[in-house]
Amino acid sequence: MKAAAFDYIKAQSVPEVLALMSKHGDDARLIAGGQTLLATLNMRLSEPQLLIDITQLAELKGIELSGEHLWVGALVTHTEIENSPLIEKYAPILGAAAPHIAHRAIRNLGTWGGSLVYGDPAAEWPACSLAVNATMVLRGLQGERRILATDFFVDLYTTALAPDEILMGTEIPLANIKQVFSFQELARRHGDYAIAGLAAVAQKTGLTLSACNFAFFSIATTPVLAKKAQALVNGQILSTELIATAVAMARSEIETMDDITNSAAAKTHLVGVLLERALKTMLAK
Ligand SMILES: Cc1cc2nc3c(=O)[nH]c(=O)nc-3n(C[C@H](O)[C@H](O)[C@H](O)COP(=O)(O)OP(=O)(O)OC[C@H]3O[C@@H](n4cnc5c(N)ncnc54)[C@H](O)[C@@H]3O)c2cc1C
Repeated sequence: MKAAAFDYIKAQSVPEVLALMSKHGDDARLIAGGQTLLATLNMRLSEPQLLIDITQLAELKGIELSGEHLWVGALVTHTEIENSPLIEKYAPILGAAAPHIAHRAIRNLGTWGGSLVYGDPAAEWPACSLAVNATMVLRGLQGERRILATDFFVDLYTTALAPDEILMGTEIPLANIKQVFSFQELARRHGDYAIAGLAAVAQKTGLTLSACNFAFFSIATTPVLAKKAQALVNGQILSTELIATAVAMARSEIETMDDITNSAAAKTHLVGVLLERALKTMLAK
């Protein structure tokens, strides 16, 4: 199919974008990498009258050290994350996750911000943003506000971004020498969306993990932290028994959901499989 006719503006500044969004309201859509939006336009799932191209906005580009944080601009592409030495040093789980996103052509265009805002529960970046305790920086005509990743993903394809706001980028606390992580994904073929996935990050001292974040994706309407399993593991020696108890706890605490090919029961089983693999991987690091 072909998209309905629309007007197109290549915005030159954030204030221009905000003014256009305020003027056109629901008739306008922002376009970044276009890797999700163009498909929805072509399928006529969405028929905006105006596309506001944000790809020229320098403020939304770049990966930089900023005080205690790593700044990842909304327009940073999946490939840039995959290849960034700053990501490798300060948010290494993102570098490990990036190759699992689609294929090279899509990774070259698709953006960190577009994926976060779209809020696809099967996408890698929303779960990773939970795992690394990211803070979303949002800007609207009223000014800037910050919101934790844990409060950002509200429901299926629904985030806390207001209709008149733009995601500028995210602040990620810097990984220290004690940080360990494991990125686990089960997909039918490499590059497919995950059947189930897990972004796990923790601090490791000896055989003990603390500050655990176990963020699952492609199992429910949003990415989900296994909070009870995290609390169980935090500060305890990671024995075989503890791993088994954490696996059982994650399976019982997370309410999984069917997708078109996999049952909720299969996903519940995979939650345990992924957590066991992640804990053993982190233990071995
Ligand atoms: C064949 C195929 C396979 C894919 N496989 C995967 C996969 O395995 N895993 C995965 O995670 N993704 C996958 N994707 C999606 C891809 O990663 C997209 O790039 C990403 O989801 C959206 O980023 P984008 O920059 O293309 O956003 P766009 O398509 O340009 O925009 C998406 C939405 O976000 C809004 N938006 C974009 N940027 C901002 C901003 N800064 N502020 C406010 N709103 C904004 C837009 O208005 C739009 O509503 C796949 C896509 C395709 C076509």
